Amino acid sequence: MRFDLITIFPEFFAGPLDHGILRRARESGLVEVHVQDLRVFTKDRHRTVDDRPFGGGEGMVLKPEPLFEAVEALLGQSVSDASKPRTADPKSAIVLMSAAGKLFHQETARRYAQLERIIFICGRYEGVDERVAEHLATDEISIGDFVLSGGELPAMMIVDAVTRLLPGALGNEASSQNESFSADVPGDARASRGTNHTLLDFPHYTRPAEFRGWSVPEVLIGGNHAEVAKWRRAAAIEKTRRNRPDLIP
Ligand code: SAH
Repeated sequence: MRFDLITIFPEFFAGPLDHGILRRARESGLVEVHVQDLRVFTKDRHRTVDDRPFGGGEGMVLKPEPLFEAVEALLGQSVSDASKPRTADPKSAIVLMSAAGKLFHQETARRYAQLERIIFICGRYEGVDERVAEHLATDEISIGDFVLSGGELPAMMIVDAVTRLLPGALGNEASSQNESFSADVPGDARASRGTNHTLLDFPHYTRPAEFRGWSVPEVLIGGNHAEVAKWRRAAAIEKTRRNRPDLIP
């Protein structure tokens, strides 16, 4: 899987790519991450990537030309213009990060994990010329109902969420199948068959069994696997009801 990140702040990604699962996935060649400085695709002396909005108003807007050219350079082919509709490659996506995009979910991460390549466009300022959303990006994606100052963190979150779903990225293959938002209900995979329920993960505990007077649930140290599975399923439902009642049908 190859990720390309188009940004005006290429140094932004140094930290997050260099730790844990992402670092290992890069070192083992499971993923390749390329950061593309948008300013390389400007033609003026000041390397201008933004301009004032048509119609007036606050702030600046990222211009379309450098973004189209950056994507075309990465793809090695011209994308399109108004005279010809573009043909999308089913194995890749061009994702515009946008607070006004469609919401990113675990399901989106699963879909992206099937692709060979994802190019991310990281917005800044007031956002990006709408022609990028309409004619360049294949997807316009938001990571939640809040506004950040740039698309770099959102793109990074998607790189992380997708990478950990790739076979071999996690030490323990089972661990991405039994967690929050996975199709299987934590603690009892059978119960979810044929349904679309997504529960949050069940609570986890580790040693010590008693900490500052708080004990871990008795059943977890009893060694009865069926009882543990039952408890985990009930605890996952209880936690989902408490923190995310919207997920309960
Ligand atoms: N004026 C825009 C916000 C611009 S924020 C609006 O009201 O919708 C600047 C950039 O940050 C955006 O172009 C986008 O790339 C990124 N961004 C901000 N919030 C985001 C979110 N929730 N999800 C994804 N990207 C976001």
